[in-house]
Amino acid sequence: MSLTSQLEIDLKDLELASDPATLKLKSRDFFWFSPVLKRELESCRADLVVRPKTIADVMQVAAAAAKSRSIVTVRGGGTGNYGQAVPLEGGLVIDMAGLDRVVNVAPGVGTFEAGATMLEIDKALAPKGWELRFYPSTRKQATIGGFVAGGAAGAGSCTWGQLADPGAVLAVEVVTIEEEPKLIRLDGPDVLKVLHAYGINGIIVSVTVPLAPAHPWAERIVAFPDFKKAAAFGQAFTEADGIAKKLVSVFDQRIPPKLGRVGKLVPEGKAAAIIMVSEPQAGAMAHLAAQFDGEVVFERGAQDAQAAAFEGHGTYGPLYEYTWNHTTLHALKRDPAVTYLQLRFPPETNLEVAERVAAEFGDEVLLHLEFQRRFGRVTCSALPLVQYSSDERLNEVMARIEELGAQVSNPHTYVLNNAGWKRVDAPQPEFKRIADPYGLMNPGKLAV
Ligand code: FAD
Repeated sequence: MSLTSQLEIDLKDLELASDPATLKLKSRDFFWFSPVLKRELESCRADLVVRPKTIADVMQVAAAAAKSRSIVTVRGGGTGNYGQAVPLEGGLVIDMAGLDRVVNVAPGVGTFEAGATMLEIDKALAPKGWELRFYPSTRKQATIGGFVAGGAAGAGSCTWGQLADPGAVLAVEVVTIEEEPKLIRLDGPDVLKVLHAYGINGIIVSVTVPLAPAHPWAERIVAFPDFKKAAAFGQAFTEADGIAKKLVSVFDQRIPPKLGRVGKLVPEGKAAAIIMVSEPQAGAMAHLAAQFDGEVVFERGAQDAQAAAFEGHGTYGPLYEYTWNHTTLHALKRDPAVTYLQLRFPPETNLEVAERVAAEFGDEVLLHLEFQRRFGRVTCSALPLVQYSSDERLNEVMARIEELGAQVSNPHTYVLNNAGWKRVDAPQPEFKRIADPYGLMNPGKLAV
């Protein structure tokens, strides 16, 4: 009997799918942002998809997979960019979207099932006056389990830092892949055992994170005469601790024309910043922007901004859906030859290094800067739009950017610890022996 038939028998009381359309859909993420990964991962397919709805279901799936030694790939919203959720060698995909409950909310802290999307979590928190501290620009589709396992930072990181910052994730519960699976709770620094482990260190079933008091986040677009002034404002505004803010994204003047309707709000030839600021302090933000010759060219009040994000109301989607790696998505819609890189700039010299990179490549590399705190210091990262010509040229560009002083994480490889940002001090190999003793979790994803 084939492995799949055995799994179908063992899991017959759960929601299963093996039709070609579902297998294709649940075997993909956003790897196609990379021309390299598009070639390499396009044909990868799961053999079976299961959608557990409870922790007991997940334990049943883990036991069945271990018993039949079936390869498993855990999937959240499937919005990863490097094929994180692609089943490299087929097997069983575990679609976690059915575990979507809010488990508990107390002042300053919340526990959520791993398959809950970050948008639905924020909708549930809003009436209580709390919110997630930060979320990726894929807030609508990304699950909190997928974010912890494969994400980094996003809207809110300008104030609250990143997943790697101590305390950003307080606890996780993980199911091991064994004939008799265990439910293990990891607290405090132990969460590093699964943080950014790309779904190979057990199945995360719940995540506990600190919460922030909710603010009425107003949206603004500010136009600047040039990128240098816009970047200097981004730095000063992120450092302005007196102003509550959720998003500080700065764009080279050549990017707005690639952003569709929202881009048209920026006068031609101007650099721009997309901002989410606490509504009572939007005036203070505009005052600071004026010191860098910035002019507010678009305003949306907090109520309308929330309706755009929560209900899809209004002419424009939420503005954070134009920032972080959404910029690439918009540019790709208009030019299929666009791809991207991931850069991190050193604190203190971030603006100088960004300026050097911006000056080096002409129209080939266009920067947008995502301002953030990291281990307490203000800096920025970039997901520059890159005009793709060949793999060799892409490698040359990455090497040159490293020489100019930025740290490059290569988003064009699916072997994720080759990419450059993996924490080497994280106790992940030891935990893998406990969580996945048979090495069934998406082999090939990490060089272990
Ligand atoms: P998936 O893509 O489904 O999975 C990600 C990884 O986590 C995979 O390795 C998977 O196996 C593993 N995984 C998923 N669920 C679990 C679980 N329950 N247990 C164990 N492992 C699990 N990222 C950012 O950090 N910031 C951004 O602002 C950002 N913007 C983006 C914009 C666009 C347009 C796109 C396409 C991507 C962006 N990303 C960003 C990447 C991605 O959206 C986020 O990292 C997101 O949090 C991933 O969540 P997901 O639920 O989609 O995870």
